[in-house]
Amino acid sequence: MATGGCLCGAVRYEVNGPLRDVLLCHCVECRRWHGHVSASTAVTRDDLVLTQDRGLRWFRSPGSDAGARRGFCVECGSSLFWDAPGRATISIAAGTLDGRTGLRLAGHWYVSEASDYYELPDDGLPHHERSGAREGRATTAS
Ligand SMILES: [Zn+2]
Ligand SMILES: [Zn+2]
Repeated sequence: MATGGCLCGAVRYEVNGPLRDVLLCHCVECRRWHGHVSASTAVTRDDLVLTQDRGLRWFRSPGSDAGARRGFCVECGSSLFWDAPGRATISIAAGTLDGRTGLRLAGHWYVSEASDYYELPDDGLPHHERSGAREGRATTAS
C-alpha cells in the first residue's frame, strides 16, 4: 500500500489500489501551481483514503478545461491533488509519495504550453500537444 503526504504532515493519505504511471504536465496552470512542470500519478477515487486532512483545502483551477479543483496544504503550502468532476480517478502529485514508488514516467502533456526556460527532453516518451489523459484510467504499476 502506498502512502504519502504534504511537507508538514497536516495532509496524509493512503492508496489502496494501483497507481498510474507518472504524467508530466507542462500547462500554465500546473506550472504556476507546482512552481514547474507537474508530475502526477492517479488512483481510482475510492482507493484514496485521507488519513489526515487537517490542512487540506481546495482551490478551483481558474482556466481548467476539465473544471478541476486542486488540493493543497494550507499549513505548509504543498501541492497534492488534482480532481476533475466526473472522472473515475484523482491525480496525486508524485513527489508527495513516501519512499520508493515503483513508478515510471509515461508521457508529457500540454507541451504546447511549455515555458522557454527548459528544453523538452528527447526521452522517447509520447509528447501530446494538450491533454491525452481524459480517460482518467488507473493502470497497474509494478
Ligand atoms: Zn502541510
Ligand atoms: Zn497541467
